[in-house]
Amino acid sequence: MQVPPRLTSPRLYHLTPVESRWADNAFSEQGRSVHVDAADAEVATSSGLIIGKHVPPAARLHRRSDCPGAGSGQPARVTALTTPLRSDLAGLNCRRFSDWLRPLVGHGPRQHRALYKALMTTGRWAPEAVEEWREVESVRPGTLATLAAVAAAVQHPPVVESLTAHEPGVGTTTKLVIGLADGRRAEAVIIPMRGGRHATVCVSSQVGCKMGCTFCHTARLGLVRNLTAAEIVGQVLAATAHVGARPRNVVFMGMGEPLDNLDAVAEAVAVLTDQVGLGLAPRHVTISTVGRVDQFARMAELRLDRVNLAVSLGSADDAVRSRLMPVNRSHDLAALKAALLAYPLGRGRRVLIGYVLLAGVNDALADADRLADWLVGLPALVNLIPFNDFAGSGFRSPEPAAVEAFRARLDARGLAVRLRMTKGDEVMAACGQLGDPALRRR
Ligand code: SF4
Repeated sequence: MQVPPRLTSPRLYHLTPVESRWADNAFSEQGRSVHVDAADAEVATSSGLIIGKHVPPAARLHRRSDCPGAGSGQPARVTALTTPLRSDLAGLNCRRFSDWLRPLVGHGPRQHRALYKALMTTGRWAPEAVEEWREVESVRPGTLATLAAVAAAVQHPPVVESLTAHEPGVGTTTKLVIGLADGRRAEAVIIPMRGGRHATVCVSSQVGCKMGCTFCHTARLGLVRNLTAAEIVGQVLAATAHVGARPRNVVFMGMGEPLDNLDAVAEAVAVLTDQVGLGLAPRHVTISTVGRVDQFARMAELRLDRVNLAVSLGSADDAVRSRLMPVNRSHDLAALKAALLAYPLGRGRRVLIGYVLLAGVNDALADADRLADWLVGLPALVNLIPFNDFAGSGFRSPEPAAVEAFRARLDARGLAVRLRMTKGDEVMAACGQLGDPALRRR
C-alpha cells in the first residue's frame, strides 16, 4: 500500500461495517480506510472528517492515493474533535448541545436545533437513527456522517428488559429496565392514560433510595447511587422510542427521592421542558418528595417551582407517619405543613398529596378526618393509592369498600380527591414496587 511520503508514522484505520455504511451513504466515495497522523483518532472517513477522543488540532488527514481527489498534494479538510466524546448527551439542553456540536460540525444554530429536536422527539440517539436524521431539513451529509460516527461511540444506555401488563380498557403498562454504564440498572414505567391514548413516564432519580419508607420495595435496596441528568432523561428517551411518541407527562415517582439528587433532577427538568426538544409543559412534570422540606428553598432557586409538587404523606398522625416514613422524625407534619404553606406554588396550582392506603394502619375514617384536618388551608389534590403488595412487605392492601369509604369521607369534607388505579402490579411496575434486588449487584 502506498503511504503518502509526508506521513512519518501513519496509522491505518479500518472502518467497521456500520461506519462504512454511513460513509457510503453520506459521501458516495470509494475509500473506506485512511491514513491519519493522529495517534488516537478513532474514526475517520475518506472525505476528511476525523472523530477521535484526543485528536490534536494539528491533525492532518491525507487521502489515500486511490481515493477521489488524491494527488493534489494538499491535505484534505480536517474537522478534528478536540472535545472529548461525551456519554451525557441526553442531559444537555439545546444550547449546551449546540455548544458541544459547533466545534464538531460547524453549521449554525438552526441546524443544531433541528438535530436536537430530531434526537429528543424520536428518543433515538443510535446508529440506526441516522436515516431519520437524514430527514432533518438543511443538514448536510457531512454532518450526518459525523453524528453517525459519534453515535456509534456514544449511545444511550440500552433497555435490557421490558415487562408489560395489559388491562382491557386501561392500556398497557410497561416497565423498562435500563442498563447503566457501570452495570447498575434504572427502572422507568410507562403508564397508559386515557385508555392508552397518552403515556405518563414515571422515572427514577436514583438507583435505590435511602429514605427507608416501610411500605416501599425500593427502600430495601438502600441508596446505591444518584442518577445523572443524562440517565434520567435517558429513561424518557427510551420510553419515547418504545412508545413511538413523546410522553404527555413525566413524574419523578420511580426509584429514589428526587430532592436527594436535586441538581441532576433540575438539569433533567430543564432538558425535558426545553421547547426545542421534548418540550414538555412544566405543568406536565411532577416531582414527588417524602417531605424533604430542607430542600424546598433550593427547589425554588432552581426554578423547580414551575413544575408540580407532590408530597407522599402516608399519615396525618406523627406517630404513624414516623413509623412508616423515617423522614418524619426530622421533618414532622407541622414542619411539612408550614413549608408547604410557604412554598411558591403559583396561581391556581395545588400540591398533590399522595396517600398510600394500608389496611388497618391508616385507612380508617378517623385517619381520613385527620388528613382532612391537616389539609385545612392548603390548596391540595389528594391522590389515594391503595397499597401495592410485594413479597414480605408486612402490609395488606385495603378492601375496596374501605377505599371507597375513605374517598367518600374526604369528598364529604370538601377535598379534591382522586383514586389512583393500580397499574402494572403483576410486573412489579406499580407505585412503590420498583427496585429489583438485582439492581444492587456489582
Ligand atoms: S417511597 Fe420514595 S422516598 Fe420512600 S423509600 Fe420509596 S423511593 Fe424512597
